[in-house]
Amino acid sequence: MRVSYRISNRRATPQAGTSPSVWIRQTPPDGATRGPIGPSRGYRWVCDTALMDRDIFDAEHDAFRDLVRTFLTKEVTPFHDQWEADGQVDRAVWRAAGAAGLLGTDVPEEFGGGGVGDFRYNAILTEEIARAGTSGLGFPLQNDVIAPYLLRLADDEQKKRWLPGFCSGEIITAIAMTEPGTGSDLQGIATTARKQDDGSWILNGSKTFITNGIHADLVIVVAKTDPDAGARGFSLLVVERGMEGFERGRRLKKVGMKAQDTAELSFTDVHVPAANLLGQEGQGFIYLMQNLAQERLSIAVGSIAGAAQALELTLRYVKDRTAFGKPVAAFQNTRFELAEMDTEITVTQVFVDRCIRQHVEGELSVADAAKAKWWASDVLKRVVDRCVQLHGGYGYMLEYPIAKAFVDSRVQAIFGGTNEIMKEIIGRSLIG
Ligand SMILES: Cc1cc2nc3c(=O)[nH]c(=O)nc-3n(C[C@H](O)[C@H](O)[C@H](O)COP(=O)(O)OP(=O)(O)OC[C@H]3O[C@@H](n4cnc5c(N)ncnc54)[C@H](O)[C@@H]3O)c2cc1C
Repeated sequence: MRVSYRISNRRATPQAGTSPSVWIRQTPPDGATRGPIGPSRGYRWVCDTALMDRDIFDAEHDAFRDLVRTFLTKEVTPFHDQWEADGQVDRAVWRAAGAAGLLGTDVPEEFGGGGVGDFRYNAILTEEIARAGTSGLGFPLQNDVIAPYLLRLADDEQKKRWLPGFCSGEIITAIAMTEPGTGSDLQGIATTARKQDDGSWILNGSKTFITNGIHADLVIVVAKTDPDAGARGFSLLVVERGMEGFERGRRLKKVGMKAQDTAELSFTDVHVPAANLLGQEGQGFIYLMQNLAQERLSIAVGSIAGAAQALELTLRYVKDRTAFGKPVAAFQNTRFELAEMDTEITVTQVFVDRCIRQHVEGELSVADAAKAKWWASDVLKRVVDRCVQLHGGYGYMLEYPIAKAFVDSRVQAIFGGTNEIMKEIIGRSLIG
């Protein structure tokens, strides 16, 4: 089976004399096919130093990786420092990503998407963003977290209304679960929606730490719709830009990921039409549980790619930097540090790749997604910390990418469910 036109026909070469976001349309190379998952015919490691083979990608994926790299090099990296200073990316980069086919790769072509339900494309985008250190891009949230909600739960009318803009980058999305008073304990949320006689809703509450919050045109809001129904008392309501009573609060100042817009949102008597209920009333909590596994796998993918990139940066640094008349790389301690980090990354990558493979085949368990998330983000924390140490004082200077990696990476163990919550999930799966 050929990969859809949209992905397979986009090559990584910008057309001469045009914007880099306009890609030459060519016929896919003969024999370029998608799956079945098997040995790679065009293996690419996320970094330049190939430390191990990975066997989950084929030539089509490699071509997509090239496309993503070229996109990031031309459309993102040159502007990222400015976006960090601004506290958010330029909206134009979303439209450029849409034009390059990077958004909604698994959305059907009739709605403007790539039409390929293959999480490996999502993984490649996330890996390359980590590799480039362009932490301001909220694309993984759009593709990995929001897309499954819209694809599985939206009815035909909603899909027609939202998905084309989602894929073109005109509609930026967010999901609002966390509140000032509660994050891990989602059943404790205080946001409520009262059903009206005509089936519409009156929404009240406030949310915090919402990724893409300032830019968002469409927010999936988790609200309590029946306070007496326990886990069956939550619903998902889609709030759109411009609805009266929907306000954005502060753009939050974070330790890292400074270009990623993270905001407070508030809802005061927002009238949400019946047509904006996503899925079934009362099923919201169940939908969250179903979709969180992909979000957690996405965090694991980004984490291990970030760890590999930190090691790559450090390998280069210790070979160049001298102390006591020799390269820092020549000290046995350095070699042991590098060896331990390389081992941890390699072993973790094998497990994460296994999870990606299982997810593509529809077999990833909630507990395995939780294992991948906590373990990979912990490896990232350890690796980046050790890499900073090997950089000495320069490792503490934000002009060095390793210092930015240090502040950017810390949150991976916190969002998407904290690592402690991941261990609860795994523990419960063991005890039953
Ligand atoms: C940059 C960033 C982006 C985010 N983006 C989003 C977003 O787009 N949408 C969204 O809804 N949320 C988002 N979040 C929120 C994030 O998911 C929550 O911060 C996270 O789930 C933890 O919730 P909390 O902050 O309320 O911490 P708490 O729940 O208050 O936890 C505090 C501490 O207690 C521990 N703890 C809590 N319960 C248990 C338990 N049962 N057993 C053991 N330990 C426990 C936690 O692990 C943690 O160490 C984002 C957060 C950040 C920082």
